[in-house]
Amino acid sequence: MSNALFKVPAIANEKVLDYKKNSAEKQNVLQTYKSLYKNHIDIPMYINGEEVRTGTCKSIAPPHDHKHEIGKYHLASEKEVQMAIDSALNARDKWGQTPWQSRAAVFLKAADLLAGPYRARINAATMLAQSKTIHQAEIDAACELIDFLRFNASFLTQIYSDQPQSASGMWNQVSYRPLEGFIYAITPFNFTAIAGNLPASAALMGNTVVWKPSDAQVYSAQVIMEVFQEAGLPAGVINMVYGDPVMISDQVLGHADFSGLHFTGSTEVFKNLWKQIGNNIHNYKTYPRIVGETGGKDFIIAHPSANSKQVSTAIVRGAFELQGQKCSAASRVYLPKSKADTILDQVKQDIDKIGKPGSPEDMTRFVTAVIHQQAFDRNVHFIERAKKSNEATIYAGGQYDDSCGYFIDPTVIVTTNPRYETMETELFGPVVTVYVYEDDQWKETLKLVDTTSEYALTGAVFAKDRYLINEALEALENSAGNFYINDKPTGAVVGQQPFGGARASGTNDKAGSALNLLRWVSPRLIKETFVSPEDYSYPFLES
Ligand code: NAD
Repeated sequence: MSNALFKVPAIANEKVLDYKKNSAEKQNVLQTYKSLYKNHIDIPMYINGEEVRTGTCKSIAPPHDHKHEIGKYHLASEKEVQMAIDSALNARDKWGQTPWQSRAAVFLKAADLLAGPYRARINAATMLAQSKTIHQAEIDAACELIDFLRFNASFLTQIYSDQPQSASGMWNQVSYRPLEGFIYAITPFNFTAIAGNLPASAALMGNTVVWKPSDAQVYSAQVIMEVFQEAGLPAGVINMVYGDPVMISDQVLGHADFSGLHFTGSTEVFKNLWKQIGNNIHNYKTYPRIVGETGGKDFIIAHPSANSKQVSTAIVRGAFELQGQKCSAASRVYLPKSKADTILDQVKQDIDKIGKPGSPEDMTRFVTAVIHQQAFDRNVHFIERAKKSNEATIYAGGQYDDSCGYFIDPTVIVTTNPRYETMETELFGPVVTVYVYEDDQWKETLKLVDTTSEYALTGAVFAKDRYLINEALEALENSAGNFYINDKPTGAVVGQQPFGGARASGTNDKAGSALNLLRWVSPRLIKETFVSPEDYSYPFLES
């Protein structure tokens, strides 16, 4: 049933709900949170549309309440990984030949299910198991995932409608085939939306997928799989397995039909996966596509002409929302001497108002827990080193406590060394480091911003004069894939700010745009000649 040039429904960004006091949406999400907290769930893998349980399990506990088990999930052995690969390969032809509008309908329906009946559940699951405030859960698990699913359907039609010219007597066509083989999606803990989008975007373009979510995101990943199934995703299109990432990746990347990696996570893991793919290159039937969005050391630089309150607000929101666990989180800040005291004082006042980190169930909390013990230990390590360093002082925060949850106070380090370790290393926690520069050193400081970190994900400049802004735009052209003027460097919205960075931050294939979807197709050019020549000779051959 493809006898029409179908159009996807009009797309707009999903409205972010406010969760105001006594609102129905607030009551609903809190009730769901409480009931999930009391229940203990047994999370299976999903292979070929079936729930698969191995009996070898890991437990799940909220990061803000880590002694309370809320569920367990089953780990794959090599056998289940093989089953997932076989299932993806078996499903490939039928799914790839399914009309695009049917594939799009599955994911558009999934978006509507998330916007409606599953909204409270996906948000509550993300609050509970990834320790997000309701606002952070809403903009991620509900709105961003919904936007990815809807906008991608529209980007698909942009790609498919890009057709070549045809001279007279012929018709040139390009078909956008799915890749030959299967895709491997590896997803991070920090965004439920990214977890859902990485397998779904490849599947929308006709590919079948083996998906390995992060151990720390399995709880909400299970809700995503349930939604995809409810939306009618056929068996085998997305197969979700959990377990030892090295064992799973060895097996998947060692398979001759592996045709693409869709990864988001840390830089080191991605580099090693790339190396592994390179080492296996002679075994593959096709050159695999490699897409990876990775770490960041994202900056804010303020000019003396900047508005102090705007800068301090950008620091507080940019560095501490989601406990600094956004790849885009502001983590190094450059302040001019003439404004530094005022801005830092405003940041401190805000931190005092924010108060202690706590459970997201307490909706007055701005900051909750970091994701796990390892993340807690990493941040504490750098805080303790800063306390002892003669190049750094703890200006605010610096306290932590993991007795009940992995709680770290929003922390500001001020350093006299622009290349101090926390100006360079991704900590992925609620810790921001500030370097104060002399007002007349603006140009030199721009150079410093550009050369201090291996990453190039996001960055922000605060200034008034347009020439100054242009100067920063030019000096920092390669320092950030997402560049913000007079705004915090976080909060990219699908369809508005396509997201991704370069250098050690990734392949910059811009999630939330057609550029990303292009990586999951292999165009085939078809030339048809209407009246074929019947004489080999050309006029120039005449004597
Ligand atoms: P991570 O690298 O620890 O894990 C990401 C995924 O890789 C998980 O599924 C994990 O199980 C898997 N993994 C870990 N070791 C592996 C191995 N040896 N082989 C194969 N897979 C392996 O990252 P995380 O802690 O989940 O997420 C935080 C990181 O992700 C940060 O560095 C952050 O900047 C980055 N991130 C980047 C973006 C972006 O768009 N650039 C978005 C979100 C997160």
